[in-house]
Amino acid sequence: MNRFSIVIALFGGMWLAATVSMAEAAPCLIVTLTGTQAGPSVFNGQAGAGTLVRYGDDSNDCGAMKLQFDAGRGTNMRLSQIGVSPVELNAIFFTHMHGDHTEGFADIIMLRWYLKGPKLDIVCSSDAVSVLGFTNSCRKFVMHIADAFLQSGEIAERRSEDNTRVAGGPADLANVITFDPKDEPQVVWSSGDVKVSAIRSTHIAGHASYRVDTPAGSVVVGGDAGNDVLAPPRTSSTSDQVERLAKGVDIIVHSTTHPVLGPDRGSGFPPFGFYRQSETTDLGAMAKRVGAKHLMLTHLAPSIGAVRHNRWNVPGGPLTEADYRKAVEAGGFTGNTIVGTDLASLRFPAK
Ligand SMILES: [Zn+2]
Repeated sequence: MNRFSIVIALFGGMWLAATVSMAEAAPCLIVTLTGTQAGPSVFNGQAGAGTLVRYGDDSNDCGAMKLQFDAGRGTNMRLSQIGVSPVELNAIFFTHMHGDHTEGFADIIMLRWYLKGPKLDIVCSSDAVSVLGFTNSCRKFVMHIADAFLQSGEIAERRSEDNTRVAGGPADLANVITFDPKDEPQVVWSSGDVKVSAIRSTHIAGHASYRVDTPAGSVVVGGDAGNDVLAPPRTSSTSDQVERLAKGVDIIVHSTTHPVLGPDRGSGFPPFGFYRQSETTDLGAMAKRVGAKHLMLTHLAPSIGAVRHNRWNVPGGPLTEADYRKAVEAGGFTGNTIVGTDLASLRFPAK
């Protein structure tokens, strides 16, 4: 082989290697609804609200990073169905301190501690005093998450079996990162080329909505956000801040309440509960305005097929998936709508 052909061979090989690694390393994102139940009730085995965002590339099935947003009842069960151990989570973000978004956390952190997983970032808003005078505290919630298991003796008992488990119990695994929610997006967590921003939104004191930006795409997790104006007349039931956060985003995941539960329909559902959420039609309109490609509805009130929502009858009988889809389309959204069921997933970009 003369020198010229060696150069060709080297160059050719490098080109081939670069092409192969680029093909293998195409970044991707998978958004999975780990629970779609709205509110304290339980219906038909649905898990409490939560969203798993996985990011990586084709070589690791988009799973190099795993971020959990809210962790309602049964989150760990849903994660187990897609082969995700609580040990693998990189961070958990909470939108607010309502049980339907937090009840599954004890299960996750207990098992992570039992399995001797590493410390876990818990990201949420700092203590927030409500207009009624009480304080919503994510920090205290996390720091006291395993108190019952300390009191029962279990933590001491399991440490006696294996004293390499963290001494203070599951809460000591949590690295709590709090922030003061603002009306403009602020970066609250980042790792490598993944950035998570938060914005203040209205539901209860301390509520925040999140946006994840990755080289593969972006997703907004709105939580239970509603408009700052708590009742009509107002331009929309959706949050102006979430809309700002969602400008140009690929995917919106958002709780929603169907107009059928509105005070004008006579279900008896309390108006304050109805008005502090985003109505389905308004969400469709917001998704259109920000240019989102996908809208994933979750935390559906009422649940599909439910005769009652919590304690109130659904006027006209149970809703279907088509009813939610119709409500989104009435808002003008022509992108892809996913009416959430537990473990509904979206890969971005599509394969
Ligand atoms: Zn909720």
